[in-house]
Amino acid sequence: MNSSEWFTEQAASTGTAFSLKITKKLHEEQSDFQHLEIYETETFGNLMIIDGCTMVSTRDNFFYHEMMSHPALFLHSNPKRVWIIGGGDCGTLREVLKHKGVEQAVQIDIDERVTRLAEIYFSELCESNDDPRADLKFIDGIKWVKDAAPNSVDLIIVDSTDPIGPAEGLFGEEFYRDCIACLSENGLLVQQSESALLHLNLIIEMRDAMKNAGFPHQQTLFFPQCLYPSGWWSATIASKAELAFRANDCANKDFETTYYNVDIHNAAMAQPEFFKKAFA
Ligand code: SAM
Repeated sequence: MNSSEWFTEQAASTGTAFSLKITKKLHEEQSDFQHLEIYETETFGNLMIIDGCTMVSTRDNFFYHEMMSHPALFLHSNPKRVWIIGGGDCGTLREVLKHKGVEQAVQIDIDERVTRLAEIYFSELCESNDDPRADLKFIDGIKWVKDAAPNSVDLIIVDSTDPIGPAEGLFGEEFYRDCIACLSENGLLVQQSESALLHLNLIIEMRDAMKNAGFPHQQTLFFPQCLYPSGWWSATIASKAELAFRANDCANKDFETTYYNVDIHNAAMAQPEFFKKAFA
């Protein structure tokens, strides 16, 4: 924090920073895996920081959690078994469980403390944790996927921290190979892929690794997220089969969203010119 009143996340390698005015520090601890901080802010509700990086705020998390879940769920023909790797704040889990067709959603976060703090400071994100279809595991997602049996999941959502520390191995070819091995025939994987403006090389490397691992199709989608570097975030989908949007099911969805709908889905899938060139 650069003063007693502001939290600033400096994305040093990109020469950018984002600040929020804070009113109170609510919690700070060093867990077995990472440094965790929770602040109350003046205008964004509560804010969770892991290892100095902004993770989630009360006010704007809906962009991220909805876009990490619903596009992929409506791009799969019939997703029944979903794994969330990371996602300890439970916001993605809540969105996934809005889909009645999902029979089982396993959240695998390495750090139980993130979830315990979310239960206190982001309780609205944890409101589906007691759903009988939810299963919360606290182990390394890399190991979980490596040890999994073939054909044991339809959709893997990688809702992790940045590719440093415990999340580093979640962005590599070996991990993607392990994902392919346990995904069902039409299975797909979606992973947060940072900012296309600031981290284009990371997305290029990630998509290369997905391709080299054996995923024939990749698609990056874009959405606003003002708390993260550049305010413009992305997720990348890797799939075994061609993606086909269930637009009618989306238009007739029987649950509420704050951001996501059919038009947002189509807009998010549109590829900017500079991005198309990078993959030409
Ligand atoms: N929305 C966030 C973002 O993009 O900055 C991600 C939030 S979520 C809280 C990230 C979670 O990933 C953390 O709770 C962290 O413990 C978890 N994580 C990091 N590495 C992991 C691994 N190898 N296995 C499982 N979970 C991991």
